[in-house]
Amino acid sequence: MKTPEASFLTWQRKFYTEDDCIAHLKTLKWPNGFICPRCMHDKGSELISRKVTECSKCHKQTSVLAGTLFHRSHLPLLKWFWALYFIGSDKGSISALRLSKLIEVNWRTARLILRKVREAMGHRDSLYRLSGTIELDDAFVGGKQKGKRGRGASGKTAVIVACESREKKAGFIAMKAVDSVNFSNVEEFVNRYLLPKQKVRTDGYPSLNIINKTQQHIPKVTPSGLVDEWLPWVHIAIGNLKTFLLGTFHGVTGKFLQEYLNEFCYRFNRRFVEKEIPNRLLNLAIFHAPIKTT
Ligand SMILES: [Zn+2]
Repeated sequence: MKTPEASFLTWQRKFYTEDDCIAHLKTLKWPNGFICPRCMHDKGSELISRKVTECSKCHKQTSVLAGTLFHRSHLPLLKWFWALYFIGSDKGSISALRLSKLIEVNWRTARLILRKVREAMGHRDSLYRLSGTIELDDAFVGGKQKGKRGRGASGKTAVIVACESREKKAGFIAMKAVDSVNFSNVEEFVNRYLLPKQKVRTDGYPSLNIINKTQQHIPKVTPSGLVDEWLPWVHIAIGNLKTFLLGTFHGVTGKFLQEYLNEFCYRFNRRFVEKEIPNRLLNLAIFHAPIKTT
């Protein structure tokens, strides 16, 4: 099913009050009407808050927000909806400070929303396994000085990157921040993000040879001038990532890097349906289990 596109004006017209938001979440969660999660009865009555529906057979009270990303959130849904709109429509990734001003919450709350949404984005994309011809490489991001490969890239975090190569365009990408590019991290990445027995191109860096175990690994040591011909898409993705990180976050540290990678990949993987992202995030939020952040 196609997800509707969203513009500022359509969002504003559609979600004007708290009740609009509740009604919309109910249509997403129960497209064919209310179903009691305990006894599967299909009739219930709304309690005063409208978020809670009481089953007319077993009297279990069910909140439309239970078991979703909005679970136990004290924030009005209207603010959540606008947060998802702003996060979904900002190409360069919105900062917590800017989001806090736009939806009138404190910085800490905005930060929490962003962390939850980015984690959910990562979970969503981790359901997908890259396939076909895949380019795989590593990159070093963050930090102030130019990094070099392997140990000694000062203040930088290593990221393993894979990108499907589909003839004249890039397909899906996956990125994972790691403490170093070693056998066990590469193996874990490949097992988690790639279908087995795919064609995986690399530049033949020794730590990547573990890929031979589960994939059709095609390593090729290329002079640096020609490496973009062998691994064009993964290098474009890495270049875009570096621009993305520079644009909003100066010196993202290792600890938080993965959440930005999640958002970058989520957006990249949906770049042809960009205008649908706010509605896709609503869907994601209502079907995602609650996230605890510390
Ligand atoms: Zn019931």
